[in-house]
Formats: sequence, structure tokens, C-alpha cells
Amino acid sequence: MNAKDVMETDNTGTTLRASLDKIRAAYTRSPAPTREERKDRLNRLHKGIIEYKDRLVAAVDKDFDGRAPAETMMAEILPVLEGIHYNKKNLRKWMRQSRRDVPLALMGAKTKVHYQPLGVVGIVVPWNFPIFLGLSPMVGAFAAGNRAMIKTSEFAPETANVLTEMLGKYFSDEEVAVVNGGVEVATEFTKLPFDHLVFTGSTQVGKIVMRAAAENLTPVTLELGGKSPAIIHDSFPVEEAAKRIAFGKGLNAGQVCVSPDYIMVPRSKMNAFVEAFSKAIAKHYPTLASNSDYTSIITERQRDRLVDNIRDAEEKGATIKVINPSNDSFEGTRKLPMHVITDVSDDMRVMQEEIFGPLLPVVPYDKLEEAIDYVNDRDRPLALYYFDWDTARGEKILNETHSGGVCINEVMTHTMVDDMPFGGVGPSGMGHYHGKEGFLNFSKAKAVVRKGRFDGNAWVAAPWNNMFFNIMVKFQLWRFKKP
Ligand code: NAD
Repeated sequence: MNAKDVMETDNTGTTLRASLDKIRAAYTRSPAPTREERKDRLNRLHKGIIEYKDRLVAAVDKDFDGRAPAETMMAEILPVLEGIHYNKKNLRKWMRQSRRDVPLALMGAKTKVHYQPLGVVGIVVPWNFPIFLGLSPMVGAFAAGNRAMIKTSEFAPETANVLTEMLGKYFSDEEVAVVNGGVEVATEFTKLPFDHLVFTGSTQVGKIVMRAAAENLTPVTLELGGKSPAIIHDSFPVEEAAKRIAFGKGLNAGQVCVSPDYIMVPRSKMNAFVEAFSKAIAKHYPTLASNSDYTSIITERQRDRLVDNIRDAEEKGATIKVINPSNDSFEGTRKLPMHVITDVSDDMRVMQEEIFGPLLPVVPYDKLEEAIDYVNDRDRPLALYYFDWDTARGEKILNETHSGGVCINEVMTHTMVDDMPFGGVGPSGMGHYHGKEGFLNFSKAKAVVRKGRFDGNAWVAAPWNNMFFNIMVKFQLWRFKKP
């Protein structure tokens, strides 16, 4: 089967519904998978990734028409394996029922929270990390005892093809279904009555998906985008910040949801930052057009969007610096060199929309409060980066801004820590996966009261004017006399 065949698979609402029904029926027959069964699913996923890793890396390379195998290994394959390992290690602890305090009114009873699988989790995947963003939510869903249906990205058809084969080999169609197709299929997919739906993609489509899920009251985890700022404090060596930012911004040519979107730099250090950033990028990527380390833009359409946004900024008065160390021509490629954009204003598209590519606006500020206000006046971002050795000021930034996650003196790496939740806030998303929060996200925390032979209710029950009820009320009011 080639990628084209996969994309043409018949995926009407009816066939998708039949697929979901089949998986849900299997779940209903076995609704409480043991730790061993969950580990078995995770182990099979692990084996599949190991067997198919070279083909997956090659497929992503083909989809992008040039994506560094090292990036796919570092940002997709290894993190999924790490996530599997981490989830298996913690499963016993997480699955344990949790004992809770018994209130006086329930004297004699026992209370606990039982973490139950939800059933079937739907997963919608974007193109920028088409392996990790499909399989990482699946790891969380499996750990919590669920089964899954995954909708791959139509813009990464080669990867979709290999994922379909891999998951088909290691899982039955009663455990996992892979759905391929474009917007029409995605629309039908998100209308399905899943027990939970994880959507990773743009904020704009996220709203459509949440509306579709609302019809079924399907709970959603929305992993969306936004403009993630980096703020460099005046006291921080600007060359060091530029070097650290360049490492992250260069990855996948900026096509990362947590890529630094714009940089706020003390006014007097603007030139020094632009110089140092350009030098650092040129060091990582001394050539571009034929350099396999530098990733292409996923489609012509995305490249055109970025080029249009550069033109728009230029027309509105921005200064553009193109980092093209060996003066390459990009004719016949989808590569786009890094563009540093200064003299920006709010009416430019680069300051309004998520960048999602190798463009970096740099915004000057005079006082730290000004930078904080600038961030707070805009949509809450998926990530925020702050460069400062001073811990107290770092805490101030944490307290006074909202974002999905934060790195201090660093960019993007918070997404690589399995033991922390990952997710946005407000327009950059809702819900989390990774960490214990991921397990909880894909579980129902069911409150359970177990009553023994002693029935306290019998003593206080109506008719209410009885002695035990009156004593109980008096005692409680005495207990709560003071706040
Ligand atoms: P997208 O929103 O265009 O598409 C994502 C998925 O949604 C695809 O599978 C697509 O088929 C499906 N889709 C498209 N239209 C739909 C509709 N009307 N109804 C239902 N589903 C629909 O996003 P993209 O271009 O693939 O990815 C880029 C965006 O994803 C960026 O905004 C980026 O920030 C975001 N992103 C977020 C994260 C995160 O973890 N928060 C990670 C990666 C990417």
C-alpha cells in the first residue's frame, strides 16, 4: 500500500462509527484491564516503534521533503519510548485506589477514589510531529486502560502509511483503529461519541472540534497553539540567551507548537541579540538548501503563508534580516531560511498570528513590567520563556503571567519531561497529558462509599425531630462555631 492508497481509504461517518462500536464492544467485554494487560499494550507499542523506527524516520523525511533524521529521533521516536518506560514504571502507584477522609455524617463507612478507564479515546494528530503527537496521547490512554482511535494528519501521508501498518501489526482492530484522510474525514471523526477526545492542532480548528464534541458531551483535551514569547532580562548575557533560543528555534525550522514565537529584548541590547542569534543559527546550519540538518516547510501552502507574512511585515515597516550564511538559492526546494524581524508593530500579521516557521520577531522593551504587560495583554500562550539568573524575578514572572508551561533560561525542553503535565491554558488549550495528570486525564476518578453493617442513617433519619439528629446538628454547629 502506498501513501495515496491510505488516503483513499473509505472513511465515511458510518464506517468510522462501526469501527468505534467494535472497539467499544471489546472494551465493554473487558472493562478493567489489569496492570499486566496495560503493560502488554505499552510493550507492543514499544516493539512496534523499535521495528519500524527507520521507516518512520524515512517517512517523516519524505513528508517534509527534508527533515533531519536526528530531529525525528530526538523529538519523536525517543520521547515516545521514554513515555512508555515512564508510564510502566508508575502504573502500580497510579492505579492504586486512593483512601479518602470520611466525614462525621458517614461514620462507619469507608471512602475511596477508584480510577477507572474511560473506554475509547479519539486522537487527532497534526502534521508537525506526526509520530509523537499521535503515539504520546496513546501511551497515556493505554496506561489508563483505554483503547484508541487515531486520526493521522493528511499532510504527513507517508508517516500515516507506516503508522497504519505498524499499529495494524501490533494491535487488533478491537484495540486500536487508524483513520486517514483530510478535513472531511476529520470532521466525521470528531463527531464520534468517544469517551474522550484529544485534539492537537490550531486554535481555530480546536473551536470546531470542541463544538462537535459538545454534541456528545465528549470531554476534550485541546493541545493548541499560540504565540509563545521569550523575555530576556537586562542582566542576562544576551549572547547566551540568543544561543539557547537558536537551538530551539532551529528545530523543525520553527514548526513546533512551543517554538519561541517572538523575543522581548531590552532596547539597548536589540542589535547584540540579533547579531548573536544570527551567528548561532549560522553555526548550527552553515548551509541550508542542501543541508539535511535544516528542515523544509511541510507544504507549498505553508511556505507561501510564511513568505506572505514576511512581505506583510516588510510593507508595514519592519526590518528583515535573512540568515543565509552560504547565500544559497532555494529554487526547487520548500526550505525557507531563518528571518529575524525587527521594527515590528501590532498591525503586522507576524505579531498577530502564530508564526510556526523560521521567522523571529524581536520586540524591544524598557522595563520588565512593560514586557509582562505586553504578554498579559495578549492570548495566554502555550509556553513562556524567561532568561534571568535571579530566582526571585523568575518567580515573579511565574506568578504574574499565564502560560501552558515555562522554561527559565531555556526553551521548549519542558515538553520532554514525562513527569510533568503538558497542556495549554485558555486559547492555547485545555487539559493535560504526560505525568500523573495524563493518567488522571484519561481516567474517571470515581468516588466510592462503602458502608458496613452499621447504618448510622437509621439513627438520624426522619421524622427529623429525633434526639440523635438534634444532637448531631448541635455538635456540628459547635464544631463550626469559628471559621
Ligand atoms: P490543524 O488544526 O489544521 O489540523 C490538525 C488536525 O485537525 C488534522 O488531523 C486535521 O485533519 C484535523 N482537522 C482539520 N480541520 C478539521 C475540522 N474542521 N474538524 C475536525 N478536524 C479537523 O493543525 P495543523 O496545521 O496540522 O498543525 C499546526 C497547529 O497545531 C499549530 O497551531 C500548532 O501550534 C498546533 N500544535 C499544537 C501542539 C500542542 O501540543 N499544543 C503540538 C503541535 C502542533
